[in-house]
Amino acid sequence: MASELTRKTATELAAAVSGGEVSAAEVTQAHLDRIAEVDGRVKAFLHVSADNALAAARAVDDKRARGEELGPLAGVPVAVKDLFATVGMPTTCGSKILQGWVPPYESTVTARLRQADGVIIGKTNMDEFAMGSSTENSGYGPSRNPWDLAKVPGGSSGGSAAAVAAHLAALSLGTDTGGSIRQPAAVCGVVGTKPTYGGSSRYGVVAFASSLDTPGPFGRTVLDTALLHQVMSGHDPMDATSIDAPVPPVVEAARHGDVAGMRIGIVSEFAGDGYQPGVMSRFAEAVELLEALGAKVTEVSCPHFTYALPAYYLIAPSEASSNLARFDGMRYGLRSGSGSAEEVMAVTRAAGFGPEVKRRIMLGAYALSSGYYDAYYGKAQQVRTLIIRDFEAAFEQVDVLISPPTPTTAFDIGERADDPMAMYLADLCTIPSNLAGNAALSVPIGLAPENGLPVGLHVMAPPLADDRLYRVAAAVEAAYQSRWGHPLLDEAKGL
Ligand code: GLN
Repeated sequence: MASELTRKTATELAAAVSGGEVSAAEVTQAHLDRIAEVDGRVKAFLHVSADNALAAARAVDDKRARGEELGPLAGVPVAVKDLFATVGMPTTCGSKILQGWVPPYESTVTARLRQADGVIIGKTNMDEFAMGSSTENSGYGPSRNPWDLAKVPGGSSGGSAAAVAAHLAALSLGTDTGGSIRQPAAVCGVVGTKPTYGGSSRYGVVAFASSLDTPGPFGRTVLDTALLHQVMSGHDPMDATSIDAPVPPVVEAARHGDVAGMRIGIVSEFAGDGYQPGVMSRFAEAVELLEALGAKVTEVSCPHFTYALPAYYLIAPSEASSNLARFDGMRYGLRSGSGSAEEVMAVTRAAGFGPEVKRRIMLGAYALSSGYYDAYYGKAQQVRTLIIRDFEAAFEQVDVLISPPTPTTAFDIGERADDPMAMYLADLCTIPSNLAGNAALSVPIGLAPENGLPVGLHVMAPPLADDRLYRVAAAVEAAYQSRWGHPLLDEAKGL
């Protein structure tokens, strides 16, 4: 059973800790107890640092005792994807090649979270180097979907989505390179946002595809998610692609959900064969709801979105093949073999990387090789420009775009493990926003009638208009709350 404290939202917990109704240490202990009780089955965490978390919580309590004002995440337990560098806690990126590595420095995003008096409760499981859509590519075994333990929690930030869904943490951090926040959020029934590229710092985040990687928040409510979004965002001189502009007013927008008069475009390319009936029927229902709330909904064609997936699978592996060259057995983590530096490098990389990571490195090295560069990498970059133009044209007609976040609900563990193409299709709808760098989120819109598993609504906004996402999501959430609410998994699913 979840305690009263693990049922509270982050917003409620922060207010209770700031007001002295409960201590940060009690809140942290309640979540640690719940993890001990449940995480043997969910396997959301790779490392739970009880000592670190309790020490951080006590520091928050001491600060309050000294009469200092607490930050916006006062005493809120946050689960962190295991690719954010955290001092004093291992950071493995879900890979054997980084087993046991404890970073000597802190990522900007986790540093901001600590400054806001948040408590890092542990590091969550993920697909190795964030490559995947199910957490099955983790070097440490898969996480499970709290709604049905035989299903995947999505990926690559599957552990972070599962942790929040199962009430093991009030908030969590992920990264989204092709959909790795929005897809797991959708299939775990929580809210997840990919901020505008450059809106949240990549400093101290282990790189997969640097022109696409975007840290972002998960929460059980729209307001909670906006709260973490706000805390983690803003200019960082340590990241050359960080945007030097004010953070969009996401919390303000989450408090004032309203779509009256808003122009909303349905991406006409994202429907048809391959989309599960329950995903499409819930989507149709959400469209009706938005219209009833006063939005003006039209269909918008984005003809090049159909080419986003193949372009992504050239660009992302190309960048990965270059980024992952640094894991050479010399500087970090695993070192295997003996003899020359080249031999050590070859043996270490053969032993330390899993099959999907090796597949991406080979794909990327091939796409970048001389003679093929123009035909593959160069062509994919041209497609990327066409996708950006599709978005620009669409956002001249509408304020936001919507689609399903992913074509299906959570699939069985093992179902797509031997079929990389089937796995890649999970991100069909999310990838265009990564290629264009704009903001997007997934918000729950109920359960698929055929299997009772969560379905999300995908909302996309122009770069630096992240607040529009929250305006829509808060209106949707408020309208659904009476119908669906947030079923408590410990009661609904025996967790
Ligand atoms: N599933 C996609 C991939 O495997 C996206 C991953 C991500 O966003 N990190 O590349």
